[in-house]
Amino acid sequence: MAVWVITGASRGIGLELVKQLVARGDVVVGAARNPETCSALKELESSSSGKLHLVKMDVEDPETIKSAAAEIEKLCPKGIDVLVNNAGISGPFAQSSQETVKSVIEVHKVNVVGPLMVTQAMLPLLRKGSRKMIANVSSGAGSLAGKVKFVEDAETRKNLPYATQAMAYKMSKAALNMQTLSLAADLKDEGITVISFCPGWVATDMGSQGTNLMKSGATPTYTSQQSVELQLKLLDGLTLDKSGGYFQHTGETIPW
Ligand code: NDP
Repeated sequence: MAVWVITGASRGIGLELVKQLVARGDVVVGAARNPETCSALKELESSSSGKLHLVKMDVEDPETIKSAAAEIEKLCPKGIDVLVNNAGISGPFAQSSQETVKSVIEVHKVNVVGPLMVTQAMLPLLRKGSRKMIANVSSGAGSLAGKVKFVEDAETRKNLPYATQAMAYKMSKAALNMQTLSLAADLKDEGITVISFCPGWVATDMGSQGTNLMKSGATPTYTSQQSVELQLKLLDGLTLDKSGGYFQHTGETIPW
């Protein structure tokens, strides 16, 4: 039985992670901006026989991260095993040349600075835990070498608006990946595993917006339930020798 901290637990992938982890008997801290008004989390908490704890955390706000860390320390005095930095936003789908500085900063505050602040606040608790793992929810969109890299062919570009849009989001996930690598190198000697992974294209509020980026009218590949089943299989199987890795939810390595 492991102790997990999941950020962005109110909806989508975060909520499904909480659901499946509680169902299999793990202890879960669900961190959300407004847990008190999230009926899905409140219901899960009341039926969890004390396995689910809810804490308030806005990953943009250092004060809520600090108070959440203090609360988690009281709830889990023996430490935590796995931190999943899941909270994220997509930002606007403007053409890259029209992207505003405001949205680039906002997306980076949530998707890059947020996970760093949360990781730093949770490190003392991770050091006390057994699994000692930090999993950053990235995206294949953050891969410089992957499918949405610069597309030479004009026809292909027209049919793949994602190559020309969502720049702030793609930049933020590439930056998150570098955060993963740097922390993995720094923390390896302490036995702490740090990885990035992509959950696949998932039918959540965010994932469904992605349909706009596919001219072919394609829709998300996975439900949250299907994606999280694969995510947990991946995370359960990871060991320290895989630290610094960038993985697909199905387990394959993604090229940086
Ligand atoms: P959703 O939009 O469904 O959920 C986003 C979650 O992040 C919500 O719980 C939201 O909380 C939370 N969140 C946003 N901003 C903050 C903040 N400042 N502080 C705390 N929580 C915040 O997205 P998904 O579930 O689809 O995405 C989860 C992760 O998976 C993200 O990191 C995303 O980039 C990544 N991902 C998703 C893919 C997909 O296809 N869905 C594909 C690749 C990656 P609130 O309810 O308060 O707004």
